[in-house]
Amino acid sequence: MIKLTILGTSGSAPTKERNLSGMALQFDGNLFLFDCGEGTQRQMFKYGLNISKLKAIFITHMHGDHVIGIAGLARTLSLYKRTAPLTIFVPHGFEENAKMLIKFDNATFTYEIIVKGVKGGNILSGDGFEIRAFALRHSVMDYGYIFKESDKWHFMKQKCKELGVKGDMFKKLEKMKQIALGKKTVRFKDVTTFELGKKIVYATDTRPSKSTVKAAEGADVLLHESTYDDAMAKLAKERMHSTSGEAAKVAKDAKVKKLILFHFSTRYKNTEELLKDAKSVFPESYLANDGMQIDI
Ligand SMILES: [Zn+2]
Ligand SMILES: [Zn+2]
Repeated sequence: MIKLTILGTSGSAPTKERNLSGMALQFDGNLFLFDCGEGTQRQMFKYGLNISKLKAIFITHMHGDHVIGIAGLARTLSLYKRTAPLTIFVPHGFEENAKMLIKFDNATFTYEIIVKGVKGGNILSGDGFEIRAFALRHSVMDYGYIFKESDKWHFMKQKCKELGVKGDMFKKLEKMKQIALGKKTVRFKDVTTFELGKKIVYATDTRPSKSTVKAAEGADVLLHESTYDDAMAKLAKERMHSTSGEAAKVAKDAKVKKLILFHFSTRYKNTEELLKDAKSVFPESYLANDGMQIDI
């Protein structure tokens, strides 16, 4: 199972109710962090995440509201005596900026911090998953991330029993795609079901874009920024952000199952207006709140 925890939903500056951008993704004992706005580590404690499980951090872009939190988090991990290396992915060309942000005071750490530049495509693969990056459209270089669980085949227990498939026949079937069983031939595709791996896409900050539509195609969840409501479309365009209606159009075009809106301008005390705009385009739209958890 994949569990998402939304750690921050405010754009540019925090508010009393909302922290800056951050999303934790838990999968099979791994904890991945997407963006790390100021105060993210405290949000992780608050919402019950074990920071020692942190495997990697993926930064979308180097605007402060998405990255300043790595300085504090890196220090706390050291206080916790972390020894496993930690990889932080940032848009390529900004590796030194990230290192400077973490090590500005020449602090020493109990573990190695590896900063890697992202240029799109596959950036991390592991047991049962893959993480890819794709270009967003913002005022600085910016990458969105796709978490994709591997597709899986399952043997249908009853069917296998009926046909007499047992023991090492399963391995043979997987390898040979068919086996002879007495006078019969049993084919792999006749005794298995196919399960598509889940897909989660994280896109902020950005104008609506074709590359996001492509990246999010058929996703189970798309987290898309929604800095403004539709009445502020002009400002959204000028500042290279999206309105909620524009985010919803991306979700609709990509045929995602669920759209979660976040990164709201601090001007909104009430975000219901943004939801209304989005739902009129894509009914499966939801507003994120800090601490929101989604099981996929
Ligand atoms: Zn931002
Ligand atoms: Zn930004």
